[in-house]
Amino acid sequence: MERTLSIVKPDGVRKNIVGEVIGRFEKSGLKVVALKMASLTRKEAEGFYAVHCKRPFFGSLTEFMSSGPVVLMAIEGAGAIKKVRDIMGATDPKNAAPGTIRKDFADSIESNVVHGSDAPETAAFEIGYFFNALEIRC
Ligand code: AMP
Repeated sequence: MERTLSIVKPDGVRKNIVGEVIGRFEKSGLKVVALKMASLTRKEAEGFYAVHCKRPFFGSLTEFMSSGPVVLMAIEGAGAIKKVRDIMGATDPKNAAPGTIRKDFADSIESNVVHGSDAPETAAFEIGYFFNALEIRC
């Protein structure tokens, strides 16, 4: 069993596809074990993406991530990290495979609808960044 953090980003919430994203995860056998909507401050977005703080897109990424509400969720299942990333598709929708969320809905490499943790260590940090133990079902 593995856990990962996924986010429906502000563009996904604006496009009204929160249920579509969660449905794709659930249909693949993954389970939502924590869920909430939040409006991230710029500082909260900067903390979440701190690993990217030296990258040229850090400013616009954190501005985008704090531009409207997001839906945060912890997802559980066998191989959940890779499964979620496969369902999301490549970061840049131009390179995303058919049938993936980003191929179907994303506008650009930055406005790419969803986030999914990329490794067990980042998943642990990211879930802990947004959820405490009381908010996660067992
Ligand atoms: P990652 O940690 O790999 O999920 O990357 C964080 C997010 O940064 C991605 O989901 C994109 O929204 C954004 N991003 C990654 N690379 C670029 C880029 N070259 N230009 C703009 N945004 C990017």
